[in-house]
Amino acid sequence: MDYYSGEIARLIEELSSLPGIGAKSAQRLAFHILSMPKEHVEALSSAILSAKNNVRYCSCCFNLTDQELCPVCADSARDKKTIMVVENTRDLVAYEKTGKYEGVYHVLHGAISPMLGIGPGDIRLKELMSRLAGDVDEVIVATNSSLEGETTAMYISKLIKPTGIRVTRIASGVPVGGDLEYIDEVTLLRALQGRTEL
Ligand code: ZN
Repeated sequence: MDYYSGEIARLIEELSSLPGIGAKSAQRLAFHILSMPKEHVEALSSAILSAKNNVRYCSCCFNLTDQELCPVCADSARDKKTIMVVENTRDLVAYEKTGKYEGVYHVLHGAISPMLGIGPGDIRLKELMSRLAGDVDEVIVATNSSLEGETTAMYISKLIKPTGIRVTRIASGVPVGGDLEYIDEVTLLRALQGRTEL
């Protein structure tokens, strides 16, 4: 039985397709949106559309940005010789929040997972290797401590070793299977400071 007319049902359905939004939350959000002033709804929908249309990958590190280079890569004060490799943009944000990391990043957008059929060619590894042709002192591998994250770290280490560039792995202060974005800043900093050679 349909409780709602088509347009309301459609809005609820679209909202419930978002991560972390169940049927109840979708309903609550839908009714909230419908009760908002029209200008507010227009601002919300135009922010979504314009972000989607204008946000792209940084041409250097593959962070999300609406410019050619992301704010980190564009910052002349950052140490471009130290590259931290992370699985996704959320992990980059977690490290940026500590305010203590002065190097730059490389966002892989995934991790190697033979089980899910994700190979080295499916993440931004080729792009990382081409960055290493420049002047780089150290690559800090900060992939998650999940099976996929560890597999990726090992793979990267094997790729980079022959170049003579220092490869380090963040310390295991990060709990096994832990997603970087949920870990507090102190733990993240400790993991960074306690990094070891790979
Ligand atoms: Zn960048």
